[in-house]
Amino acid sequence: MCGIAGIFGREEASGWVAEALFAQQHRGQDSCGVASADSGALRRHRGLGLVREALGPETLRRLPGAAAIGHVRYPTQGGATLENAQPHLFMKDGVPRFALASNGDITNLPELRREIEARGYALDGTNDAEVIAKAIGIWAFEDGLGLDGAIARWMRRGTGAYSTLLLTPSHLYAFRDPHGFRPMSLGDLEGAAVLCSETVALDTLRARFVEHVPPGSILRWGPEGTARAVGLAPAALHHCIFELIYFSRPDSRVFEEHVFEIRRRIGEALAAGDETEGDLVIPIPDSSNYMALGYANARGLPYAMGLVRNHYVGRTFIAPEQQVRDESVRLKFNPLPGFLEGKRLFVVDDSIVRGTTIKKLVRMLRENGAREVHLRIGSPPIRHSCYYGIDTPERDKLVAAYRSEQEVAQLLGADTLRYLTLEGLRATVARPGDFCYACFTGNYPAGTKEPQV
Ligand code: SF4
Repeated sequence: MCGIAGIFGREEASGWVAEALFAQQHRGQDSCGVASADSGALRRHRGLGLVREALGPETLRRLPGAAAIGHVRYPTQGGATLENAQPHLFMKDGVPRFALASNGDITNLPELRREIEARGYALDGTNDAEVIAKAIGIWAFEDGLGLDGAIARWMRRGTGAYSTLLLTPSHLYAFRDPHGFRPMSLGDLEGAAVLCSETVALDTLRARFVEHVPPGSILRWGPEGTARAVGLAPAALHHCIFELIYFSRPDSRVFEEHVFEIRRRIGEALAAGDETEGDLVIPIPDSSNYMALGYANARGLPYAMGLVRNHYVGRTFIAPEQQVRDESVRLKFNPLPGFLEGKRLFVVDDSIVRGTTIKKLVRMLRENGAREVHLRIGSPPIRHSCYYGIDTPERDKLVAAYRSEQEVAQLLGADTLRYLTLEGLRATVARPGDFCYACFTGNYPAGTKEPQV
């Protein structure tokens, strides 16, 4: 998962893009970057760390122009290095021809990588977006397809997930895989086009929402106006359900759904038929807040923010190294002193991946006086890896991959554990057939090919 932003037709575009990235910082904290187009030239800056650290006012002043794209990175392919930070530049004869930023993972990456290297191009980093950039650049400038033709070829050749922005000295392109795995929205800022992963970025910029970029489409802005093409005929949609469960901000509208509302409904669905007795419902902040609220309301139980989160640590799921993840748990959460004493708690979380974080939390809650800890999880057990842009580990590291619910509860030290069923989850969205559930079911969407890892 990463976040992208782009703007066309507004002076100081790089500053606007940086603000849009800041609103989407939760989608990636590893590195970030912005590229801008001005007077026929492309400029770019990339840095490690957060937007406010890596993209200061001085840096943005060196990226002038009325068009820009940017990216916040959360690593799924490749480590936390500057080479893997985006946007990537495609160079030809020593001149940058375009910059590219993408969200998602490509499932036929090895095959494309071999093809690029066979054409004599080296890959500097190890991530997907660089492969997209090199493939499109080679087809556009060596094979004579031009950018429109090369992007159209990419849509036929690349499989998997991509919501991508491409900036030339004169044009901005946006294109999205035909299954629509990752979100991408289009807005209007007093006549300028704004692209972003989540609508919260449009709200921040006070841009008007126009539409979710249709999956399979290629949009282009330039001096001649706006053009729209079908890159690939509509295919079955496979929106990532985890965007609604965990990743997106609750104040975003993603895949036509209000994220906070879906989370509240998940909480209600979790409560249905639950007869376990308890005193208090607490969320594991922040992505579970609305789920816990929905659960508490449906059960007629009090709701409280019993755990306080330190927002400056970063999300544990995002931290790429196991060591960082383990250390960050106790730095990240702290219970209200004395408040949990003697209580039978319902603890609501959005999902369990490895189980390391929640296990430590259960222990921490007991050490702080909780009499019982009942875990309520707002998604089905994760039993399979994701190949479309989410950093889930190999199957044997997933705590629920080969264990029953009872075994997981025991391992985590919980009194009871209840997951949301797949049917319960599907019932929370308006069009359940338009979503991907492969990490729960192992049924990887057809047409994305067998994941090559
Ligand atoms: S496998 Fe899971 S995390 Fe990956 S895209 Fe599908 S629903 Fe999202």
